[in-house]
Amino acid sequence: MTQQGNRCLLCGSALARDTEPRVCQECEKRHQIVFELDPLAGHEDIIPGKLYAGRVKRVHDIGYFIALNPGVVGLLRKRDARGEHAPGEEVVVKVARVRGDRVDLLPWESDGDYTLVPLRKHIPLWKIGRISVNELGSAVRIRGIVAKVQRTSGPTVFTVYDETGAIECTAFASGERAYPGIDRSDVVEVRGEVVFRLDRLQVEVRHMEKLYGAEQRAVREEIDREIDRKAEPLRPEPLVRDPVLEALYPGMLELAKQLRRAVLTGVPVFIRHHADADGFIAGVAIERALLPLMRTSSPDREAEWHLFKRLPSRAPFYEMEDVVRDLQYSLEDAERFGTPMPLVLVVDNGSTAEDLPAMRKLRVYGARIMVVDHHYPGEVRDGRALVDEVAEIHVNPYLAGGDYSLTAGCLGVEIARMVNPEAGERMSHLPGIACVADRVKGETPERYIRIAEERGYTRERMEVIAECIDYEAFHLRFMDGRGVIEDLLGLGRLDRQAELIEIIWEEARRAREVQLRAALENLRRAELANGLLLCTIDLEKYTHRFSYPPAGKTTGMVHDAVASERGGERTVTIGYGPDFAVLRATEDVGRRYRMNLNTLVAELAEELPGAGVTGGGHEVAGSIKFVEGYRRQVLERLAEKLARLEA
Ligand code: MN
Repeated sequence: MTQQGNRCLLCGSALARDTEPRVCQECEKRHQIVFELDPLAGHEDIIPGKLYAGRVKRVHDIGYFIALNPGVVGLLRKRDARGEHAPGEEVVVKVARVRGDRVDLLPWESDGDYTLVPLRKHIPLWKIGRISVNELGSAVRIRGIVAKVQRTSGPTVFTVYDETGAIECTAFASGERAYPGIDRSDVVEVRGEVVFRLDRLQVEVRHMEKLYGAEQRAVREEIDREIDRKAEPLRPEPLVRDPVLEALYPGMLELAKQLRRAVLTGVPVFIRHHADADGFIAGVAIERALLPLMRTSSPDREAEWHLFKRLPSRAPFYEMEDVVRDLQYSLEDAERFGTPMPLVLVVDNGSTAEDLPAMRKLRVYGARIMVVDHHYPGEVRDGRALVDEVAEIHVNPYLAGGDYSLTAGCLGVEIARMVNPEAGERMSHLPGIACVADRVKGETPERYIRIAEERGYTRERMEVIAECIDYEAFHLRFMDGRGVIEDLLGLGRLDRQAELIEIIWEEARRAREVQLRAALENLRRAELANGLLLCTIDLEKYTHRFSYPPAGKTTGMVHDAVASERGGERTVTIGYGPDFAVLRATEDVGRRYRMNLNTLVAELAEELPGAGVTGGGHEVAGSIKFVEGYRRQVLERLAEKLARLEA
């Protein structure tokens, strides 16, 4: 096997590109050269007058039929031969003449030492993207980067890409992995025959070699440069004008580019998003933009299943439980399918300190991590937050002087439009739904909502869709809801959307009413001396556990119902279970009473060290976890603290 195609195989001196045979004139004079004919070579590739290694195929009256490769057989007449030959015997012969497919051979006159040199078929270099059915059965030579190496029960399959496309190259080796020295991300030259196998064009490898040095660099750089150009996203006008969005625009473009680049280079993409309507919208939008690209640029017909995953996270952050799964699947895929570690995109989650451990863990295994979120990322210094330690790209309005009101759904759709404008065209109503779902207020959300209204969605309809997604998400648990969520969002068949919404909405509303009625009946209300109304509800006893709506939403509904009786003021609601409590307070409790849930959690954790208190959220909404044995103490202490708040 050679390492440098444009140097003399014997002395290493430079040769003109594609010189064949790769021996300089000096060496040809100095050595007794015997050619070994490339299996792909035909009669046209034979240079008469030279010596070739062959094997006796048949013995006939007239002479010996000697194969120079599986396709080229010549005749050495008995009258010319020096002595007898047996079938299977290896011999060195001289090619006297080639006429059509007739090759006349002569014996080699001496028996001394010789140097065996491969004589390769001259095959023009092909760009992978140009190989079509017209080339079926022909020999091609390609140069590219190995994206993936998969051992199958049959051949070893090397997926090779260049700047024009990717193709699978199959190499057969009995019982072993073919070319064990060649691995993912190596630059290779493949010579082989175009075949149609498993419903797609492949190259059946006759010869594959790894390129080195300057040659390797040149090929890699050219591919890199071109792919970089192809990955460049479009720069669509954002759906709305907003200074924060404008400030985030370069980061979003870069993220879109990295996603496109991953697809073009066969890197799996994995989206993790919060399991609420906003999170689903952001995740699904990007998915819908990426999949068509994946379908056209991967040789794997099932690329969208092998190289893409989108999963919802039930927790409002990237949980350890999630990352354990994600890591397990990624490592399994790496082992089974030879794929690289994925590019992980965390959406509507990912910005907070709680997300950090999971993302750190992924990083240990070489996954690339990017975040699109609108949750408060902690202190921002020089436009950077805590998770920037692991996130290669971090898009968050807080990093550009904005806030929660620019939701993940808005950001996700704007990014999806950069990734794939064609797919993006059908999504302009999604950010409005996301804004309604996350109940954000402000000029920008209003503009997004207006766009959805122009597309025929009333605000009420958007609320209904958001709730339907919540309902679906609750039952989907850890599944991605592919298909149904798209239909709900109006990205699939519109007749089905209407029908589906009707059915799910009916169910969701019924479930919500059952839950709300039972909770309100059993709500305990206490008027505190400071003017606050404290409502508590034992969710375990007085609601259907494990059914929709879950604890957080149930508490929110109860709270909204009670607070509206008091003009939306001075109300705190706590829904609790055996080892958790959900807290909701009206906004004025944060503003005028200066309540901050995160401070309360910190105080409780310190005052009750045995209670294992953790949790947090926004100032006036969030959850607290504790160990079951301390429930009474935690709740009592929490009530005392609320009673001590002063306006
Ligand atoms: Mn959100």
